[in-house]
Amino acid sequence: MNHDYIIQILKSICETPSPSGYTKKVFEIIEAEFKSFDMEVQYTKKGGLITYIDGKDSSIKKAIAAHADTLGAMVKEIKNNGRIVVAPIGGYMPHSIECENCYVHTVNNKTFSGTIYTIKPSVHVHSDSKTLERSFDNMELLLDSKVSNKQDVNALGIEIGDFISFDSRFRYTDTGYIKSRHLDDKASIAIILGVCKYIYENKIVPDHTIQIYLTGHEEIGHGASSGLNCEIDELLCIDMGAPGTGQNTDEYTVSICAKDSGGPYDYEFKNKLVKICKDNNIEYKVDIYPNYGSDGGVALKAGMDIKVGLIGAGIYASHSYERTHIDSILNTAKLLLEYIKE
Ligand SMILES: [Zn+2]
Repeated sequence: MNHDYIIQILKSICETPSPSGYTKKVFEIIEAEFKSFDMEVQYTKKGGLITYIDGKDSSIKKAIAAHADTLGAMVKEIKNNGRIVVAPIGGYMPHSIECENCYVHTVNNKTFSGTIYTIKPSVHVHSDSKTLERSFDNMELLLDSKVSNKQDVNALGIEIGDFISFDSRFRYTDTGYIKSRHLDDKASIAIILGVCKYIYENKIVPDHTIQIYLTGHEEIGHGASSGLNCEIDELLCIDMGAPGTGQNTDEYTVSICAKDSGGPYDYEFKNKLVKICKDNNIEYKVDIYPNYGSDGGVALKAGMDIKVGLIGAGIYASHSYERTHIDSILNTAKLLLEYIKE
């Protein structure tokens, strides 16, 4: 597996803004990669990307899903002093974006940089700056533009409903750690691309054609509610593993999810994934994610009669400034490759 390629494409997609519902640009980058592996790409009407790994026969029994959308925000209100109130897209803690650099994307394709602060950001000015409740009502976006009222902001072309993205601050350390926002779920997309590149270069042909479905609305709860091929027996979601206190997942192995908030994943499918790891010396951890849902649960709730499994790299501090290690990415890629081949 080409580890340099995975890191390089991961950096590129992490640095490309894609809050849920604003995923066109990141899909253009991903589409170009698939096309370079001779894979045709099509889109669902709501903007998800579909492609296929060609099999020895064209029946489709397996699908692989991940999501390209991330957390973000929208311009909710422009205050009289020219500061912006933000409405969150996706579920995250307000303090996880405190003091973060961000970008406002206007409908006429201009981008303006800014910073998210609390309304009392300076200890030298506000005696309650430390104890101020971290809520979206107590946060505001300051543009890096000389604006002092609503009209100044509107004159830039910024309007209510414009998308806001956060600086990913991607870092790859010489000790193998990857730190960035949006590793959920861009790490999985980089893994899928890395595996597809390997399959293309090594001329691997699975028994049956496999659908790959990259959704653009997972963080807001309806990514895979449509778009999956109706012939499939199995859906393997590649999404983040959740390490932390009390968790079995770590940042070095592939995490196999036995159960999340929506209940158990398919028992036989989970056991098959464990067996693939054991047979191929892939380092893995089985785990339960307490506060977690995925596109797999969404597909089941939409009425699909399929077995669903979920694997992913262990992503520490999820929905914040996230961290994982290249070992976890490579173990996940190995499991995905063996699953495709089996
Ligand atoms: Zn995710």
